[in-house]
Amino acid sequence: MGTYAVVTVAEGNRAGLETVYGIARSEAGRVEALLNPFAEDNELARLNAGAGATWVSVSGDTLAVLGESLRYAEASGGAFDPTVGPLVRLWGIHLSEPPPKVPDAERIAEALRQTGYRHIRLREGEAFLAQPGMRVDPGGIAKGYAVDLCYERMLRSGARNFMVNIGGNLRVHGLPRPGKTGRNRAAPRPWTVGVRNPFVPGGIVGTFRLDTGMAVATSGHYERFVHIEGRRFAHILDPRTGIPVEGMAGVTVASTNATQCDALSTALFVLGVEEALPALEAVDGSRALLIPDRQPLELHLSPGLEDIFEPLPEFADAVRHLAPGRGRQRSPAHF
Ligand code: AMP
Ligand code: MG
Repeated sequence: MGTYAVVTVAEGNRAGLETVYGIARSEAGRVEALLNPFAEDNELARLNAGAGATWVSVSGDTLAVLGESLRYAEASGGAFDPTVGPLVRLWGIHLSEPPPKVPDAERIAEALRQTGYRHIRLREGEAFLAQPGMRVDPGGIAKGYAVDLCYERMLRSGARNFMVNIGGNLRVHGLPRPGKTGRNRAAPRPWTVGVRNPFVPGGIVGTFRLDTGMAVATSGHYERFVHIEGRRFAHILDPRTGIPVEGMAGVTVASTNATQCDALSTALFVLGVEEALPALEAVDGSRALLIPDRQPLELHLSPGLEDIFEPLPEFADAVRHLAPGRGRQRSPAHF
């Protein structure tokens, strides 16, 4: 998946570390084996090779990732689109050598014709990409899906107080210091994670407090990007235009599972501050922090986020609240 994975266990739970570590390796490894977009002969490669021609038999995991992808594509009006593969390729997003020139309008239009989640067909044990040239790119959701698999298996193995994090997609269970209470004796300290400051390497803008079962994911412009003709382009594409998204620096989503957070953070990165709310409202229990790519820093909080997100004191004045009514006039179904 081109990223790191970290499993953290609570103080006093070190004996369980080997078990959860083994689970993380095997579950994340399994998802990667099925869906790595560079493998020549995995399920994803066979699915893409059959585009426009044939149904391909796929595992339950691949089917689940595709099904969840469609769900979040619908919820976001197509801002999340797992069929951005031809665009990702055109812009050289995952390549070690970026393209020498910014793609021209004709090639972008051609890649856009091969894009569109509505051409994904699913049935029991099989999937079909109905347009020739289509390519599924699961990069916006597979890490979150793998986190949920790890989380479920860790729970089944008896682990109780842990955090699993794959490349900034994370989910927690229990407490970091079970048994100990905070200064306020009644309230044990929950898992707490910092949100990176997109503009200051090593800095954070604030922290999320996560109750058991909760997940968080961040899509950031600092994570991965390409330089073409001296310009820097983000790794997330706007499926409406076929062009890398401009204007967002970071989006962090909190919700009840990691798959949801992963897909939504990618979607909201595309939708931006003005169009984020309808997509969040379409997904129960999701909340988001959006940071536009401009100065001075702005922290846009969706309704209810203030219950779990605390900005650093120096950024208290940067907080804005996404209010219903702003940008809601437009239906999300305009892709
Ligand atoms: P993330 O870091 O989770 O936001 O995912 C970004 C990755 O998802 C990119 O590297 C692409 O592989 C893929 N991607 C890019 N744009 C989109 C999009 N609009 N919808 C779904 N996946 C995308
Ligand atoms: Mg994502």
